[in-house]
Amino acid sequence: MAKVLVVEDETDVRELLVLHLKREGYQVNAFEDAESALGSLSTHTYDLAILDWMLPQMSGLDLCKTLRIKLSHALPILILTARADTMDKVLGLEIGADDYLTKPFEVREFVARVRALLRRSAKSGEALAPKAEIKSEIKIDSLRLSLASKKIWNDQEELSLTPNEFKLLATLMDQPGVTFERTQLIELIQGPGVAVVDRTIDTTVLGLRKKLGDKAEWVETVRGFGYRFRGQE
Ligand code: CA
Repeated sequence: MAKVLVVEDETDVRELLVLHLKREGYQVNAFEDAESALGSLSTHTYDLAILDWMLPQMSGLDLCKTLRIKLSHALPILILTARADTMDKVLGLEIGADDYLTKPFEVREFVARVRALLRRSAKSGEALAPKAEIKSEIKIDSLRLSLASKKIWNDQEELSLTPNEFKLLATLMDQPGVTFERTQLIELIQGPGVAVVDRTIDTTVLGLRKKLGDKAEWVETVRGFGYRFRGQE
């Protein structure tokens, strides 16, 4: 019987995951934070870990990284992310998650992913390689952004962005024309467990536009929703 580790701070989501995993016949250990999950490693061996990205204190991604370092055996890891968080996916792949599920998700989809991960690991018996492609660079017109080195250039000139400005721009540029809601962007920038200050996002956009110079207006305000990077016309 496969043993599954679940780490999700939202009680109803956690209970739902546990319910469906048990229904599938798996043994489940569920925790609401990363620290307790790590604490259980001394007494439990898991076949699969399901981690929510947004956790209080230590995030799901940091937990993922820690599990990779701590465990000698290959543990398939499924990360649950908020909607359209492209940057999370990039980060997750760098850190070594095996698969992603975007919230909100269908139970059927969730169960299918779990089965597939357990099947793959049972078959190979070794570390699973991330299956999605890692995008290392985004280029739009004269702007070139390197996700690996966290640097950005406008023509040949390197721009000096703060980490928040970089994360914001990378997210917007990854899907030009797509409007990101303010709450999504705030989560992305501030991370889990931080008091949400709405103004932070506006300040970040303001700073970003200043540094983008002649490309400033490409970061567009969508009134009442949020921001987007100018789409192709
Ligand atoms: Ca959460």
